[in-house]
Amino acid sequence: MNKFFRSFTFRLTLWYALIFCFSAWIAFAVFYFLIDAELQKRTDEALRNQVEEIERIYQLQGIDTAVSIARLQAEATGERRSFFRMFYRTGVVFASANLARWKQVTVNQTAIRALLAGKRHFLETQQLAGSNGTCQIRVIYRRLGQEIVLQWGLCLDQEQALLASFRRVFLAVMALVLAGALAVGGFMARRAMSGVERIGKTARRITEKDLNSRVPVGRRADEIDELAITINQMLDRIQSLVTNIRHMTDNIAHDLRSPITRIRGVAEVTLERAAKMGPERHQDVLEEFAGMAADTIEECDRLLDMIATMLAISRTESGIEPLKRRPVDMAVMVEQACEIFKPVAEDCSVQLVLRVAEAPCVVQGDARMLQRMVANLLDNALKYTSAGGQVEVSLAVGGKKQDMVVLSVSDTGCGIEACHLPHIFERFYRGDQSRATTGSGLGLSLALAVARAHGGRIEVESEPGKGSTFRVFLPSA
Ligand code: ADP
Repeated sequence: MNKFFRSFTFRLTLWYALIFCFSAWIAFAVFYFLIDAELQKRTDEALRNQVEEIERIYQLQGIDTAVSIARLQAEATGERRSFFRMFYRTGVVFASANLARWKQVTVNQTAIRALLAGKRHFLETQQLAGSNGTCQIRVIYRRLGQEIVLQWGLCLDQEQALLASFRRVFLAVMALVLAGALAVGGFMARRAMSGVERIGKTARRITEKDLNSRVPVGRRADEIDELAITINQMLDRIQSLVTNIRHMTDNIAHDLRSPITRIRGVAEVTLERAAKMGPERHQDVLEEFAGMAADTIEECDRLLDMIATMLAISRTESGIEPLKRRPVDMAVMVEQACEIFKPVAEDCSVQLVLRVAEAPCVVQGDARMLQRMVANLLDNALKYTSAGGQVEVSLAVGGKKQDMVVLSVSDTGCGIEACHLPHIFERFYRGDQSRATTGSGLGLSLALAVARAHGGRIEVESEPGKGSTFRVFLPSA
């Protein structure tokens, strides 16, 4: 229950009902005051007409006729509804209606003074206490000639009754409006929040069970549907990240397990052999252990190398370690790399060809990282090309606006199957054919990270059995 009162649906309903009722109340108040003002205007007009008629009669036929007509008219209106008094300016009353009910109604001296000062008439409202509560009396004062003042009063009980019944009706209507506003507001709020609830439910299901569920998207293309689409896109991204992390963890575990198993195996075999040899073959035992130590160092170096490459990729991708940028002549760098790899190429009987464009190929970058990128591409090309093949390295200016330095490493090697092609830049990803070769599946990841950190990209074309071409595009300085 407490949860319901804190819910957005409840607050929305309450706000809706409050705003609706407040608007209705404002409309009523305006209407009420307009009616009140109109009723008073009409009463005042009726009173003015009344006293003007008596004044006319007084002027035409004298005071006696005026008094009898006033009495007749007061009786005709009703003794409980209206009365009159006629008095001299000294205050002495000389004629009146039946004042049994009106004794409390006083003569306002301010009115008398205002009339004597020249005002044509004076209007005021007095309260009259009765058995049924107080009643409002509207009173008008008018001068008849120089000496006489006419006071005429009209009880406003009919008008007050009308306003009272109007108020009662309003309260009843307001109660209905409040109930209606709560019902309609509740319905609308629940409808508006149903989409959010739907999303919340799916999100809970995803947290509890699997990442495959998606928020159902409606056909209205409203804000809720847009939110659902955004959440689904976010889930897609999270799922792909989780899958990547899972693959990477599997790969790391696999790639770490092999060298560690090897180290363990070598250690075990060495121990067994040493035990069999006995203390008399002391020298042989020492040699066995020395061999084991050398193997361990080699494996550890490989492991350390792999870990260092992983760290280099992470740092380059995240930008934690800023690149030490300076102008690097790629032509010089590629030539040096080819020099270094020439003996390897010769060992595998692969022809290494270098073509460098005339135009200057300078990039603003980190020479050490760019060297590692070039070395990885060359190493791969030679590694996956069998004897008699060719690796061609070329450097040129390219791109749509001729603002890129394009390094292309092309080989006539085994090529890459289409199913592997989208994954070769992933960390630890290794194609089937590469299982026989040394490597950790990190070379291309590092190359791509370096190219991206320099604002560039790597494209690859490959045909299984015919060869591959890797093209690195780097913005020229
Ligand atoms: P590895 O250590 O396995 O070479 P890389 O990240 O350098 O790791 O390459 C990833 C995978 O891409 C390799 O395992 C291989 O299958 C494929 N590959 C990369 N370069 C070539 C190439 N020049 N020819 C054929 N396959 C390649």
